[in-house]
Amino acid sequence: MVDQGRDAWIERRDDVGNHIKGILNGGFGLIQGMGLTLKHLFEPPITIQYPEERWQPAHGFRGVPVLTIDEETGELKCVGCQACARACPPQVIHIETSRKADPDDRKKLNIDEFSIDMSRCMLCNLCVEACPFEAITMSDHYEMADYELEGIVFDKEELVELYKRTNTAMILAGHSWQPDEPQDQE
Ligand code: SF4
Ligand code: SF4
Repeated sequence: MVDQGRDAWIERRDDVGNHIKGILNGGFGLIQGMGLTLKHLFEPPITIQYPEERWQPAHGFRGVPVLTIDEETGELKCVGCQACARACPPQVIHIETSRKADPDDRKKLNIDEFSIDMSRCMLCNLCVEACPFEAITMSDHYEMADYELEGIVFDKEELVELYKRTNTAMILAGHSWQPDEPQDQE
Protein backbone atom coordinates (compact mmCIF):
# COMPACT_ATOMS: atom_id res chain seq x y z
CA MET A 1 0.00 0.00 0.00
CA VAL A 2 2.84 2.33 0.95
CA ASP A 3 4.76 1.32 -2.24
CA GLN A 4 1.78 2.04 -4.48
CA GLY A 5 1.44 5.54 -2.99
CA ARG A 6 5.13 6.15 -3.47
CA ASP A 7 5.04 4.98 -7.12
CA ALA A 8 2.08 7.25 -7.84
CA TRP A 9 3.95 10.18 -6.27
CA ILE A 10 7.07 9.47 -8.38
CA GLU A 11 4.94 9.26 -11.54
CA ARG A 12 3.26 12.58 -10.75
CA ARG A 13 6.64 14.16 -10.03
CA ASP A 14 8.01 12.95 -13.39
CA ASP A 15 4.92 14.25 -15.19
CA VAL A 16 5.28 17.68 -13.63
CA GLY A 17 9.03 17.68 -14.40
CA ASN A 18 8.40 16.78 -18.08
CA HIS A 19 5.71 19.44 -18.29
CA ILE A 20 8.03 22.13 -16.93
CA LYS A 21 10.81 20.98 -19.27
CA GLY A 22 8.42 21.25 -22.23
CA ILE A 23 7.41 24.79 -21.23
CA LEU A 24 11.04 25.84 -20.85
CA ASN A 25 12.02 24.32 -24.22
CA GLY A 26 9.10 26.02 -25.95
CA GLY A 27 9.98 29.35 -24.32
CA PHE A 28 13.62 29.00 -25.34
CA GLY A 29 12.61 28.19 -28.92
CA LEU A 30 10.32 31.22 -28.97
CA ILE A 31 13.09 33.52 -27.72
CA GLN A 32 15.51 32.05 -30.32
CA GLY A 33 12.98 32.64 -33.09
CA MET A 34 12.28 36.21 -31.96
CA GLY A 35 16.04 36.85 -31.76
CA LEU A 36 16.50 35.69 -35.36
CA THR A 37 13.60 37.84 -36.52
CA LEU A 38 15.05 40.87 -34.71
CA LYS A 39 18.48 40.25 -36.23
CA HIS A 40 17.08 40.22 -39.78
CA LEU A 41 14.86 43.22 -39.06
CA PHE A 42 17.88 45.52 -39.09
CA GLU A 43 19.71 43.95 -42.04
CA PRO A 44 19.38 45.44 -45.54
CA PRO A 45 16.74 43.59 -47.66
CA ILE A 46 18.04 41.04 -50.16
CA THR A 47 14.98 41.13 -52.43
CA ILE A 48 15.20 43.35 -55.52
CA GLN A 49 12.43 45.12 -57.42
CA TYR A 50 12.72 43.27 -60.74
CA PRO A 51 12.62 44.35 -63.57
CA GLU A 52 13.47 47.90 -62.43
CA GLU A 53 16.42 46.39 -60.57
CA ARG A 54 18.35 43.54 -62.14
CA TRP A 55 20.27 40.80 -60.37
CA GLN A 56 23.94 40.76 -61.33
CA PRO A 57 25.18 37.16 -61.27
CA ALA A 58 28.59 36.29 -59.85
CA HIS A 59 31.35 36.07 -62.45
CA GLY A 60 31.44 32.54 -63.83
CA PHE A 61 27.65 32.13 -63.63
CA ARG A 62 26.35 29.85 -66.39
CA GLY A 63 23.67 31.42 -68.53
CA VAL A 64 23.04 31.08 -72.26
CA PRO A 65 26.04 29.64 -74.18
CA VAL A 66 27.13 32.22 -76.78
CA LEU A 67 29.30 32.31 -79.89
CA THR A 68 32.61 34.12 -79.59
CA ILE A 69 34.14 36.24 -82.34
CA ASP A 70 37.67 37.09 -83.32
CA GLU A 71 38.19 40.59 -81.89
CA GLU A 72 40.42 41.62 -84.82
CA THR A 73 38.40 40.37 -87.76
CA GLY A 74 34.98 40.36 -86.12
CA GLU A 75 34.37 36.90 -87.60
CA LEU A 76 33.01 33.86 -85.79
CA LYS A 77 35.68 31.63 -84.31
CA CYS A 78 33.43 28.67 -85.03
CA VAL A 79 34.60 26.40 -87.86
CA GLY A 80 31.48 24.25 -87.95
CA CYS A 81 33.15 21.05 -86.73
CA GLN A 82 30.03 19.98 -84.80
CA ALA A 83 32.05 18.83 -81.76
CA CYS A 84 29.84 20.90 -79.43
CA ALA A 85 26.64 19.52 -80.96
CA ARG A 86 27.90 15.97 -80.52
CA ALA A 87 28.92 16.63 -76.91
CA CYS A 88 25.61 18.25 -75.96
CA PRO A 89 23.65 15.71 -73.85
CA PRO A 90 20.13 16.95 -74.72
CA GLN A 91 21.17 17.62 -78.36
CA VAL A 92 19.96 21.19 -78.45
CA ILE A 93 22.67 22.61 -80.72
CA HIS A 94 21.76 22.73 -84.39
CA ILE A 95 24.46 23.61 -86.93
CA GLU A 96 24.26 23.78 -90.72
CA THR A 97 27.33 24.44 -92.83
CA SER A 98 28.27 24.71 -96.49
CA ARG A 99 31.53 24.85 -98.44
CA LYS A 100 32.92 28.28 -99.26
CA ALA A 101 32.51 29.34 -102.87
CA ASP A 102 36.08 30.64 -103.11
CA PRO A 103 38.23 27.69 -104.43
CA ASP A 104 41.20 28.92 -102.33
CA ASP A 105 39.10 28.89 -99.21
CA ARG A 106 37.19 25.65 -99.67
CA LYS A 107 38.66 23.99 -96.60
CA LYS A 108 36.73 26.40 -94.41
CA LEU A 109 33.00 26.12 -93.92
CA ASN A 110 30.29 28.75 -93.93
CA ILE A 111 28.25 28.61 -90.75
CA ASP A 112 24.83 28.93 -92.35
CA GLU A 113 22.89 28.18 -89.18
CA PHE A 114 23.84 27.82 -85.55
CA SER A 115 21.10 27.68 -82.97
CA ILE A 116 20.69 26.60 -79.38
CA ASP A 117 17.30 25.59 -78.01
CA MET A 118 17.39 27.06 -74.53
CA SER A 119 14.13 25.39 -73.55
CA ARG A 120 16.14 22.19 -73.09
CA CYS A 121 19.70 23.41 -72.50
CA MET A 122 20.86 22.35 -69.04
CA LEU A 123 23.74 24.85 -68.84
CA CYS A 124 26.22 22.02 -68.36
CA ASN A 125 29.21 23.69 -70.12
CA LEU A 126 30.00 20.49 -72.06
CA CYS A 127 29.75 22.29 -75.41
CA VAL A 128 32.38 24.77 -74.17
CA GLU A 129 34.62 21.92 -73.03
CA ALA A 130 34.26 20.13 -76.37
CA CYS A 131 35.06 23.09 -78.62
CA PRO A 132 38.71 23.02 -79.79
CA PHE A 133 38.61 26.70 -80.83
CA GLU A 134 37.12 28.48 -77.80
CA ALA A 135 34.34 29.44 -80.18
CA ILE A 136 31.54 28.94 -77.67
CA THR A 137 31.42 30.11 -74.07
CA MET A 138 28.91 30.55 -71.27
CA SER A 139 27.43 34.03 -70.81
CA ASP A 140 25.68 35.37 -67.74
CA HIS A 141 22.42 36.01 -69.64
CA TYR A 142 19.57 34.44 -67.70
CA GLU A 143 16.45 36.32 -68.81
CA MET A 144 14.78 34.00 -71.29
CA ALA A 145 11.08 34.18 -70.46
CA ASP A 146 8.88 34.09 -73.56
CA TYR A 147 5.30 33.17 -74.42
CA GLU A 148 6.44 30.76 -77.15
CA LEU A 149 9.11 28.05 -76.98
CA GLU A 150 10.45 29.24 -80.35
CA GLY A 151 11.27 32.52 -78.62
CA ILE A 152 14.00 30.84 -76.61
CA VAL A 153 15.71 29.18 -79.53
CA PHE A 154 18.67 31.51 -80.03
CA ASP A 155 20.03 31.77 -83.57
CA LYS A 156 23.56 32.63 -84.69
CA GLU A 157 23.03 36.40 -84.76
CA GLU A 158 21.46 36.42 -81.31
CA LEU A 159 24.25 34.25 -79.89
CA VAL A 160 26.87 36.67 -81.23
CA GLU A 161 24.90 39.69 -80.01
CA LEU A 162 24.70 38.16 -76.53
CA TYR A 163 28.46 37.54 -76.58
CA LYS A 164 29.01 41.25 -77.25
CA ARG A 165 26.77 42.54 -74.48
CA THR A 166 27.10 40.03 -71.63
CA ASN A 167 29.82 38.86 -69.28
CA THR A 168 31.34 35.55 -70.26
CA ALA A 169 33.58 33.04 -68.53
CA MET A 170 35.55 30.38 -70.38
CA ILE A 171 35.79 27.63 -67.78
CA LEU A 172 37.53 24.46 -68.93
CA ALA A 173 38.07 21.34 -66.82
CA GLY A 174 41.71 20.65 -66.03
CA HIS A 175 42.79 24.19 -66.86
CA SER A 176 43.31 27.03 -64.46
CA TRP A 177 40.44 29.41 -65.01
CA GLN A 178 41.29 32.86 -66.31
CA PRO A 179 38.10 34.87 -65.98
CA ASP A 180 37.35 37.27 -68.82
CA GLU A 181 37.15 40.87 -67.71
CA PRO A 182 33.59 41.65 -66.61
CA GLN A 183 32.01 44.26 -68.85
CA ASP A 184 29.95 47.21 -67.71
CA GLN A 185 26.27 46.34 -67.96
CA GLU A 186 23.88 48.86 -69.46
S1 SF4 B 1 25.39 23.97 -72.00
FE1 SF4 B 1 25.12 21.73 -72.13
S2 SF4 B 1 23.00 21.45 -72.68
FE2 SF4 B 1 23.48 23.59 -73.09
S3 SF4 B 1 24.06 23.64 -75.22
FE3 SF4 B 1 25.94 23.37 -74.06
S4 SF4 B 1 26.24 21.14 -73.97
FE4 SF4 B 1 24.13 21.50 -74.59
S1 SF4 C 1 32.82 22.84 -81.39
FE1 SF4 C 1 33.34 25.00 -81.56
S2 SF4 C 1 34.12 25.24 -83.62
FE2 SF4 C 1 33.07 23.26 -83.55
S3 SF4 C 1 30.98 23.74 -84.24
FE3 SF4 C 1 30.97 23.91 -82.02
S4 SF4 C 1 31.37 26.08 -81.60
FE4 SF4 C 1 31.94 25.68 -83.71
